[in-house]
Amino acid sequence: ARKWSSATLFSNNSMGAMLLDGKACGAEVEAEVKAKVSDLEAQGITPHLAVVIVGDDPASHVYVGAKEKACARVGVRSTRIDLPSSSDFAQVADVVQKLNNDDSVHGILVQSPLPEGMDELAITDMIDPAKDVDGFHPVNLGRLVQGRVDGLVPCTPAGVVRLLEWGGVDLSGKSAVVIGRSRIVGVPVSLLLARKGVDATVTITHSRTSDLADTCRNADILIAAVGMAELVQADWVKPGAAVVDVGVNRVDDSSRESGYRLAGDVHPDVAGVADWLSPVPGGVGPMTIAMLMLNTVTAASNL
Ligand code: NAP
Repeated sequence: ARKWSSATLFSNNSMGAMLLDGKACGAEVEAEVKAKVSDLEAQGITPHLAVVIVGDDPASHVYVGAKEKACARVGVRSTRIDLPSSSDFAQVADVVQKLNNDDSVHGILVQSPLPEGMDELAITDMIDPAKDVDGFHPVNLGRLVQGRVDGLVPCTPAGVVRLLEWGGVDLSGKSAVVIGRSRIVGVPVSLLLARKGVDATVTITHSRTSDLADTCRNADILIAAVGMAELVQADWVKPGAAVVDVGVNRVDDSSRESGYRLAGDVHPDVAGVADWLSPVPGGVGPMTIAMLMLNTVTAASNL
């Protein structure tokens, strides 16, 4: 297993954390997806993902580009529908309805964020649950609450659990702390960790949690999904813990041509305390995309 480089380590743990390498684990998932695509092709089905992007948010364009590249790698057909930022709700809704009715399309993803003021939940409600490859439709989140994970499970949470399992992290009976309670990451990852068969004991924390650092120090497994650069400090982490960093934050950095660098929600010094840590970039990001590919073949198999 690859370790964090010594430059990032505290002296109290000369071994350093094992890298929860999302590129390596994601490549394994993509290899599985490729095999499933071949099986579907043999039945005359080409899995097809439609991605709707509204406006010109640069980060969204990067994410959608990465999703299109992943489709090309695994043999999924992709269609991208670009709508101007001036689009209104009815126009976006109309595109979703057309994709719902298009039998050649198996997966529909509407890239977040939508333009200011547009009701994202109302658009999510409109997507055919059988094509909801983000797993955010109430039917799919409801299935998750029921403990049913054979359908379309939210990609980032599913990727987090897959990455922990890939790293050989023991989850059963362990104490997991999740920072963040969004419907996209915090809540679904908490449900996945607590479900029967995974069996972690989960604490959900958020901006009103009064003793966050103390709560984190009890965690065998710590999931940071906040959106605050390097919030989680080394002294918040129990020695030997597994830490998954979901956060993607832009931090000003004038030494770079872009003027910024990407930082996670976890300070790099945590690598000196934890036994496992996912990097940013290269951790949860590639897992999210791999799980999206998996959901697309699942949707194509089920339709
Ligand atoms: P979100 O909807 O903004 O939720 C953030 C959560 O963090 C909220 O529950 C919020 O609490 C909590 N929070 C905010 N400040 C806090 C603090 N000081 N202490 C403790 N909790 C605090 O964000 P999200 O969609 O879940 O995403 C979280 C991060 O993950 C972002 O950086 C996002 O870019 C990243 N992300 C990455 C991927 C990927 O594929 N790598 C995918 C999705 C998201 P309240 O509920 O009380 O406001």
